[in-house]
Amino acid sequence: MITFQLINMKKELNDNWDYSSSLEAINHIQLKKKYTLFIDGKWIAPSKNTYFKTINPANEETLAEIASASKEDVDLAVKAARKAYTNVWSKMPASERAKYIYRIARLMQERAREFAVIESLESGKTIRESRDVDIPLACNHFFYYAGWADKLDYAFPNRKIESLGVAGQIIPWNFPLLMAAWKIAPALAAGNTVVLKPAETTSLTALKLAEIIEESGLPPGVVNIVTGFGETGAAIVNHPDINKIAFTGSTAVGKIIQKALVGTSKKVTLELGGKSANIIFEDAPIDQAVEGIVNGIFFNQGHVCCAGSRLYVQEGIAEKVIKKLKQRMESLYVGDPLDKNTDIGAINSKEQLQTIEKYLKIGMDEGAEMYQPKCAIPKKGFYCAPTLFLNVAQSSIIAQEEIFGPVLTIQTFRTVDEVIQKANNSPFGLAAGVWTDKGSRIFNLTSKLRAGVIWANCYNKFDPTSPFGGYKESGFGREGGLHGLSAYLKLS
Ligand code: NAP
Ligand code: MG
Repeated sequence: MITFQLINMKKELNDNWDYSSSLEAINHIQLKKKYTLFIDGKWIAPSKNTYFKTINPANEETLAEIASASKEDVDLAVKAARKAYTNVWSKMPASERAKYIYRIARLMQERAREFAVIESLESGKTIRESRDVDIPLACNHFFYYAGWADKLDYAFPNRKIESLGVAGQIIPWNFPLLMAAWKIAPALAAGNTVVLKPAETTSLTALKLAEIIEESGLPPGVVNIVTGFGETGAAIVNHPDINKIAFTGSTAVGKIIQKALVGTSKKVTLELGGKSANIIFEDAPIDQAVEGIVNGIFFNQGHVCCAGSRLYVQEGIAEKVIKKLKQRMESLYVGDPLDKNTDIGAINSKEQLQTIEKYLKIGMDEGAEMYQPKCAIPKKGFYCAPTLFLNVAQSSIIAQEEIFGPVLTIQTFRTVDEVIQKANNSPFGLAAGVWTDKGSRIFNLTSKLRAGVIWANCYNKFDPTSPFGGYKESGFGREGGLHGLSAYLKLS
């Protein structure tokens, strides 16, 4: 009898747990049909009167129309930011600036549920992620930097501290509100004003943030939100009256921006792509490590710049880790981002799904062995099953290029030196993970891996006090913590 029950349980585990869906309500959110630009504290129509549709990638339905800002609109936003900087924000006592930043944080927190639902609707990320990670972290960034605004003398003792002026900020679609918070909060705390452009597929939470900024009474022009495509971003980069460019996005666009800024006096930080190594040693706690691997690459659909997309497992435990990982993958739910049971939501856009599928084909053509669990995939919308590639060569394209989807390559190693070489053999250097019981090994690796963030026995953990940024083609400059604050200051 007991044996029979166990067999049944095992079967159930392998066949996936059958949960009833638990959908997050959407009736409490308020979306306008059409969004204009937020410039100088007012909502204004784009000068060329052009709008584009933003869709829900989980079902391809239109959510709203978004204004496309022209070069002239960007110019208007920069003029508003300059005026607000010169006349108001740079003259305001820092303790007053802090109050506004704090108020924005409180208002965001009060509307956290609305933000989380809108983020999941538009980006495709699971409600679990947006509710538990993105939105609380975004609020925390505002709280954290509100605390620094009137303590810059303590942050940078014995230095002359000056704000920069107008900051142009361009952000990607994978953490829409969080990236806006990473950019806006330190810029304001340091005394700058802002023109921010969200990604074309995820403008809504930035526009909701603009509503909160309006409600907070922040002086007009201190924060301006201009929506649009790449050209809108380029108009910000090339505007002559901007003092600082902060960009998060792909390495390809980062290179274009860096070239455009050569010979100008604009200060710049670039947070770009990644292909981060997650390294599991034989003495690691294996079950936790497997959970860390899943968290590192499959949750949030692999739409994470620092995703642990290259797995290195020490040879002696490789078979065991792969077996456990496959078992765990069988229990992952791919589906509606608003279902609280969902582990892997929708891929952000059709284009991104096509990019991921292109890499799956490349992987198979390169001779790697592909594994996907037998999970059900919704027919409508953009979805990708979690995918493993075994028998991968270090030089293969799928181990070298950023895929930005739930796709993991696995390689084995024997010695510490070998895995350091392999992990560093990448054009990127954003993050890494190390799983081992040995503290000395962790310290050895953290000093030798060329990555901006290294997690030990965990993965994808963030905190506003901790700096984040890359080596090599993952960019330069740091966001978060005091480093993130100094990126918006002239210190002499
Ligand atoms: P992307 O294509 O580079 O776009 C990023 C932003 O730049 C978007 O707002 C985009 O507008 C805009 N843009 C496009 N062309 C531009 C140009 N010529 N000049 C100025 N701005 C331009 O990146 P993505 O596809 O949105 O995001 C994914 C990438 O971001 C990945 O590579 C990922 O690794 C990286 N990322 C890095 C970090 C980090 O902290 N290191 C964090 C998150 C994401 P449109 O949306 O309208 O094209
Ligand atoms: Mg893009």
